[in-house]
Amino acid sequence: MVKMQASRYAIIPVAEAQRIISLHTPSLGIEEISLYEAEGRTLAEDVVADIQMPPFATTTVDGYAIIAADGLMQRRVIGEVSAGHSGKSSLRNGEALRIMTGAPLPQNADAIAMVEHVVVNGDYIQTTESPSPGDGILPRGIDLQANQNVLAKHMLLGAAEIGLLATVGRSRVSVYRRPVVAVLSTGDELVEPHDPLGPGSIRDSNRYALLASVADAGGIPLSFGAVRDDELEQRRRIEEALEAADVLLTSGGVSVGSRDLIKPIFEQLGTVHFGRVSVRPGKPLTFATFDSGKLAFGLPGFPVSSLVTFEVFVRPTLLRMQGRLEPDRPWVRVKLKEELTPTLDRTDYQRAIVRWVEGELTAYSTGRQVSSRIMSMIGANALVRVPPGGEPMPAGSLADAMLTAPIQGNGSPST
Ligand code: AMP
Ligand code: MG
Repeated sequence: MVKMQASRYAIIPVAEAQRIISLHTPSLGIEEISLYEAEGRTLAEDVVADIQMPPFATTTVDGYAIIAADGLMQRRVIGEVSAGHSGKSSLRNGEALRIMTGAPLPQNADAIAMVEHVVVNGDYIQTTESPSPGDGILPRGIDLQANQNVLAKHMLLGAAEIGLLATVGRSRVSVYRRPVVAVLSTGDELVEPHDPLGPGSIRDSNRYALLASVADAGGIPLSFGAVRDDELEQRRRIEEALEAADVLLTSGGVSVGSRDLIKPIFEQLGTVHFGRVSVRPGKPLTFATFDSGKLAFGLPGFPVSSLVTFEVFVRPTLLRMQGRLEPDRPWVRVKLKEELTPTLDRTDYQRAIVRWVEGELTAYSTGRQVSSRIMSMIGANALVRVPPGGEPMPAGSLADAMLTAPIQGNGSPST
């Protein structure tokens, strides 16, 4: 039986906790996947172009392939070339070939007269503008050289990168593996959202919120349900989760209550690197590693605490494991709409909505900032960092904010 007593864990600064976590963050292995599955994944190889682009000289417009030196003279149209058809055609002086965008340039042609600059008379055309060599032509190899390095290890794959991979002949690609992340709620009070609420019970919201956060951070979420505040049961579930997953997230049970069992169980199974952080919300955040190389985060039970500590400590870890070199959210300087009051001794991450107002990024508080109030996260797109100790930060002053979702408004002075 665990007794209630003051925590014996030292309170460490946020940056120190982040440093300790990153020291113990393994990078996962590599897997080969299809381009269809590649969006949002991190490249684990350097990619070289196998061909030049375009592979043959072509045209960027629909029009007529001509010889520029023929000037404004009438030209006889001798046929048509369209995209995807081999360019056997060739031109002699005084001739033109109708040509479609992407078709191979006929031999001897050195300019394209756009349809818009041509008058057609039966089998003849007349250009209305004097052509110059190179007009409308996309020379061979102008966009991409063969053997050029096009993508590097650790790059995030989005639409353009995936399109480029296909361009250079790849339908499969090596990426870093996604971490499997088990999420386990603890607490005798927890029931499923669809279950009746008994006396003293509350709904298990953290597990659902954390599973969504894991997926959003590129992890593979694995729900381990909710477990009662029973040491043997919790220990068994934690062992199972550490077997199945690369990372375990628990919620609840990390404070100093008599039923807070997570820290002692992590101590039995592995090494607890810290058990308290100078952060609000989320002071009892606990981090442990195991001989298997796996990681566990004991997240605090209050809904806002578990989500904020996920943002600040877990999300960057999951991204790093997937090969991302810059796993942090973007930070911006924001103007405070209302006064914010710091804690005496902890770094506070206050939930806010950041929007453009008259050309300035302005942070609006989401209201009462207590860790039980999940409504303080609804609509929020930023965590405003309020350093400890000082005087209140007055309305109109500047603060650092971590963007967790896109900025609202379009940035024009009229919004
Ligand atoms: P604990 O850290 O276990 O003492 O929990 C702190 C507070 O968070 C308590 O009010 C719990 O009822 C609440 N809580 C714990 N786990 C969850 C959960 N999975 N979903 C919603 N609230 C929770
Ligand atoms: Mg509890």
